[in-house]
Amino acid sequence: MNVAATPEQPGHDCPLCPRLVEFRQKNRATFPEFHNAPVDSFGPLAARLLIVGLAPGLKGANRTGRPFTGDYAGDLLYATLKQCGLATGRYDRRADDGFALVDCRVTNAVRCVPPENKPTPAEIKTCRRFLADEIASLKRLRAILALGRIAHDSVVAATGGRPSQFRFAHGAVHALPNGLQLVDSYHCSRYNTQTGVLTEGMFRQAVATACGLLADAASSSRNEHENRG
Ligand code: SF4
Repeated sequence: MNVAATPEQPGHDCPLCPRLVEFRQKNRATFPEFHNAPVDSFGPLAARLLIVGLAPGLKGANRTGRPFTGDYAGDLLYATLKQCGLATGRYDRRADDGFALVDCRVTNAVRCVPPENKPTPAEIKTCRRFLADEIASLKRLRAILALGRIAHDSVVAATGGRPSQFRFAHGAVHALPNGLQLVDSYHCSRYNTQTGVLTEGMFRQAVATACGLLADAASSSRNEHENRG
């Protein structure tokens, strides 16, 4: 079986969100050494778990060109993925550090850095085409971990659901209309951890819940196979 069709990634100069294009041009002038372009997803196409964040941070992914790489949220995310067996190598806050994801892939609901980390509803909706294509293209995908309510709502909408019928709650698990499982977590931002909204333990538990769904999916597909055989 083909593990995936290659998901559509936005071009380096994607023109679809005028405000973000203007911000991109400004950042290209101010920080010419930064990536300053839409940030593509990271991880193997055969992944069974997709992790969806909000948007690149100005001096994180927008600088390094790899999701979550280079800022606090990435420190916590990638350390946790490694603890849970979903990554190998040494994470060193650089896109070329050799760090690799195992059975999971990381992306953002919005691929371009927004001013003050706040994309507008129109920008979230416009960029959803790339999220929807990502989800549809990963043929082995079983579960999605959404980091924060905006990612949660966008995943629900991208899979044909109505966000009003899937309430975001840290640790909640939802059955999506397309058959995938969605796990919610508060975003692993510095703000959320400093204010105590999210502890490292809570975050590890949410990732572990998503991993548990992969194990359940593997054992139910094994059972189906045995029952058929
Ligand atoms: S946020 Fe998405 S749709 Fe908007 S300009 Fe960037 S890549 Fe294109």
